[in-house]
Amino acid sequence: EIRSEHRRIQVLDPRLANQIAAGEVVERPASVVKELVENAIDAGSTRIEVEIEAGGSRLIKVRDDGSGISEEDLPLSLSRHATSKITSLEELEGVASLGFRGEALASISSVSRLELVSNTDEDPRNGWRVVAEGRRMEPRVSPAPHPRGTSVLVRDLFFNTPARRKFLRTEKTEFGHVEESFRRQALSRFDIGWVLRHNQKTLHQLPLAQTDDERERRLKSLLGKNFLDNALTLDIEVGSLRLWGWVGLPTHSRAQADQQYFFVNGRVVRDRLVAHAIRQAYRDVLFHGRHPVFVLYLDVDPAVVDVNVHPTKHEVRFRDGRMVHDFLFSSLHRALGEARAGHAEPNAG
Ligand code: ADP
Ligand code: MG
Repeated sequence: EIRSEHRRIQVLDPRLANQIAAGEVVERPASVVKELVENAIDAGSTRIEVEIEAGGSRLIKVRDDGSGISEEDLPLSLSRHATSKITSLEELEGVASLGFRGEALASISSVSRLELVSNTDEDPRNGWRVVAEGRRMEPRVSPAPHPRGTSVLVRDLFFNTPARRKFLRTEKTEFGHVEESFRRQALSRFDIGWVLRHNQKTLHQLPLAQTDDERERRLKSLLGKNFLDNALTLDIEVGSLRLWGWVGLPTHSRAQADQQYFFVNGRVVRDRLVAHAIRQAYRDVLFHGRHPVFVLYLDVDPAVVDVNVHPTKHEVRFRDGRMVHDFLFSSLHRALGEARAGHAEPNAG
């Protein structure tokens, strides 16, 4: 009989607690990019640049022109459960920002060498830098020039958690995930200009897109000409719900569900109810086993949707799921039906 020896209970030291929590949000370079870009979006940026080296295992850099972080707040931004985005449960219920858990920077800094340079001031001389590295919990703050906004540099991801570093795939695979994350986020906000570089090469340069033409240009550059040539635009509003975007013609289905983008209030969402409504709408027009392509935006009152379901926040819960489901289904069903009618009868317009 094996009996384990009694051990005293101890409170985990904060760094270890952060490393454990990091398991939830930081899976690979792409998850770091997602979190840093969300912060840049929440800061009200109009331009976000993502720079990657070696698939993200050597360097992930996200630079924005947002509100910046003040000198006093810099060390705090790296500690757990520290956020500027909510202060009460009431605020959580109507939260409009992408972040609110105050966990990302603490988690990322516990499994990498993190450097953050920021400035809340128009004068670029008034910036500050904070570095968190290795086992040091107390971050050091020093003056550093930076234009208004923030740059976060994450070097050597998982350098101190070898078990996790081992799970990183090839540079190409990891960058593929980074690019997909970037694609989703660049599609989520046309009012932001974006840049993506890998190993010093610029792969995407996307200017602000305010007009329909500019938005379609962005779509073309992220998803290819083929997507746009085979998609319908739609924009339907019923009550407080609005659905707009692009849906692929049934003739342009794919073998994999790899070009499906759905945003709820600008948040990337993978949701069963949404997926079901879309599948139903395509049911009669798509061959079995094929997948539609779409880039769709659902705008709803933030108070009727709960985003605090999962740490990565990919899931949402609608207060009235039935109504949302019916709205999605009927909007898409009608748009696809009209397209088919138009196809059969070219003169119908
Ligand atoms: P959360 O986003 O959930 O608040 P994070 O750990 O991602 O938690 O960030 C902690 C805090 O640091 C944020 O609440 C915000 O105040 C600040 N912050 C992080 N990144 C930026 C940025 N790019 N620009 C301005 N403030 C930032
Ligand atoms: Mg965040």
